[in-house]
Amino acid sequence: DKIFTGFSKTRDNLAVIDELLLYWNLADTDKVLDELEEALLVSDFGPRITIKIVESLREDILAGKLKSGNEIKDALKKSVLEFLTKSANKTELQLGYRKPSVIMIVGVNGGGKTTSLGKLAYRLKKEGAKILMAAGDTFRAAASDQLEIWAERTGCEIVVAEGDKAKASSVLSQAVKRGKEQGFDVVLCDTSGRLHTNYSLMEELIACKKAVGKVVSGAPNEILLVLDGTTGLNMLPQAREFNEVVGITGLVLTKLDGSARGGCVVSVVDELGIPVKFVGVGEGVEDLQPFDAEAFVDAIFS
Ligand code: GDP
Repeated sequence: DKIFTGFSKTRDNLAVIDELLLYWNLADTDKVLDELEEALLVSDFGPRITIKIVESLREDILAGKLKSGNEIKDALKKSVLEFLTKSANKTELQLGYRKPSVIMIVGVNGGGKTTSLGKLAYRLKKEGAKILMAAGDTFRAAASDQLEIWAERTGCEIVVAEGDKAKASSVLSQAVKRGKEQGFDVVLCDTSGRLHTNYSLMEELIACKKAVGKVVSGAPNEILLVLDGTTGLNMLPQAREFNEVVGITGLVLTKLDGSARGGCVVSVVDELGIPVKFVGVGEGVEDLQPFDAEAFVDAIFS
């Protein structure tokens, strides 16, 4: 699996612990936990989670609840899994019964929004859904060209802005209207992600959300925030802002085939309490996978 190779660095960092645990005895506890702390920090777990994990292991070791290296390793994996699933367990797309379902894809430029939208279209179409794309990034002309390529590649229809001054919200509202009239199952809405005019971007996203909600009540069903996995913990403030303004329902972490450090997945879920719904593991149509927390934990601690 591609996600497994993508985290090779994280795995190497954490493998140090394995060796220590193999010969672990009670007297080594401080040394092992110091190394573990270091490894977790280097892998972008962030100080909050790292300290919680390490201190809870220390407590259980000293209380005699963990008696071998294997037990410590299992407890470690279990606690990481808990961080991933405790507040964010709905990892499946939640699409409404009203048609069309509307999914808005948001995030800063370059994170992989358009690519993820294309891959998601491919995936949903393969499951039998009739998909309409909406080129809501009216700010960059190249963005709708790029989405048109994805529409062609996946055999989906697309609504693009007419004229230069089209508002994103009116493109999306048009698309959802068409989706409703023509029996589409899902409308996938691309949005703008320019950073330098952040304030108006947020206004625009609010307007987009309202506009689609006027056409189909309950829409958008999902607002997925696309985050570039290679930016590590830097993605957190961004994610927080998007969430405060539009209310994110799920995360798509991209570029996990590259140099992403696994811990940032755990940090972002813990910090926001929002589930990762998909992970991007490449640039091809098939390179979007549903997020499987258990497989993820097994992969980074393998
Ligand atoms: P947008 O500006 O947010 O719409 O970002 P794009 O979809 O244009 O993606 C930016 C770049 O990242 C493109 O070159 C994509 O091919 C690449 N990309 C997106 N997702 C992934 C991924 O999961 N893995 C890899 N390796 N590259 C990706």
